[in-house]
Amino acid sequence: MSIESLSVLQPDASQPDEEQTTAGSYFVSNYPPYSFWTPQQVPSALDALDRAPLPGTPLGVYLHIPFCRKRCHFCYFKVYTDKNAAEIETYLDAAVSELELYTKRAFIGGRKPRFVYFGGGTPSYISSSQLERLVARMKALLPWDEAEEVAFECEPGTLTEGKIKLIRELGVTRLSLGIEHFDETVLQINGRAHGAREIGRAYDFARKMGFPQINIDLIAGMVGDTPEKWRDAVRKTVELAPDSVTIYQMEVPYNTTIFKEMKARNESIAPVAPWRVKREWVEYAWEEFERHGYGLRSAYTAVKDVEKTKFVYTDMLWQGADMIGLGVASFSHVGGVHYQNEHDWDQYLAALQEGRPPIYRALKPTGEERLIREFILQLKRGKLSRRYFEDKFGIDPAARFAEPVGSLAQRGFLSVDADMMRLNREGLLQVDRLLHEFFLPQHKQ
Ligand code: SF4
Repeated sequence: MSIESLSVLQPDASQPDEEQTTAGSYFVSNYPPYSFWTPQQVPSALDALDRAPLPGTPLGVYLHIPFCRKRCHFCYFKVYTDKNAAEIETYLDAAVSELELYTKRAFIGGRKPRFVYFGGGTPSYISSSQLERLVARMKALLPWDEAEEVAFECEPGTLTEGKIKLIRELGVTRLSLGIEHFDETVLQINGRAHGAREIGRAYDFARKMGFPQINIDLIAGMVGDTPEKWRDAVRKTVELAPDSVTIYQMEVPYNTTIFKEMKARNESIAPVAPWRVKREWVEYAWEEFERHGYGLRSAYTAVKDVEKTKFVYTDMLWQGADMIGLGVASFSHVGGVHYQNEHDWDQYLAALQEGRPPIYRALKPTGEERLIREFILQLKRGKLSRRYFEDKFGIDPAARFAEPVGSLAQRGFLSVDADMMRLNREGLLQVDRLLHEFFLPQHKQ
């Protein structure tokens, strides 16, 4: 696809309803949906913490660092932009005490983490000395010497050469730069804290430090974007030659600044392009990356070396790994049970001061829900092994999901052969919308 043929990113009232970008989110990150997790089911989570792990289940650790310099207008995460150094210290102390609580529970079962993920918010927002102390305390409680991946999210404007050097020395293997776009005006309109000039500087520091994997995040369809600016963003990303590029399609979830402004203006269509146009833009990007030797690893990520470049965090999580999520509003999956931490700052800290796990809501999925969860998450890779599901769940997914599989095949998105199920490019570009077709009826909204 040539850039000249790319549609302009404007809301377009002539598009059918399902193609409009309205408020809400298609993106599927877990199953059953979070709205079905309840405080009444927290005892299931506590029971899971007291059970030994199933043999062979990998363990991961996620730490949510909920601080940012500014709140982006499209952001729906739990983040704070007004906490001072003392409050950040209090929070990090609490997260370490949360980890300490877990290390005494049976579900650890002598395991060491196979992956560690620092997510946000902005993990790179905290100071080098805070980060150094944090990591030393975490490693003393649960050593990472067997971790295949330590991932760390950064906002370019928070990085100095010294901080990047420290992040590498602490053992981070995958550095993810939240660039989102390269255009100064687009970054400003969308409320990003970093400017275009900070990107190259941060990237150069990171390359110099020799991280095994550098990922760049981009968002297709930000407010104010144009075909020329998107082409430029793709070109600049290709020039930087990161190991991995992740592209999300712009959504407008309910608790974002953009949604609040839409509500004030009584508008139902977001000031963002229709889905068809965003898919076209992402397709253009994938074609450009493929032209430069990249291959697709999932619906969102292109990598330079498809055989070697892993993303252990999603690879393991999407196959049912245990993961303890530390920090306010974090998500965990332990012993087949989902749970989420308190999403209120004071309640999160209060629970830990009282020495109890800060769990707000939970859900214990049935066997069928666990099967659907793994199926839809793995379909995000664009292909999955029928044998995997036969071995693990004793079913053939082509038979279990005959109706949606048939429907997707008929519409030309999916093919099934003796071993594999595969989404084609068009299916992959709208995978999150299609995944809802595999939900149980009570979970379809
Ligand atoms: S940097 Fe990320 S977490 Fe922070 S406000 Fe922006 S989108 Fe949200």
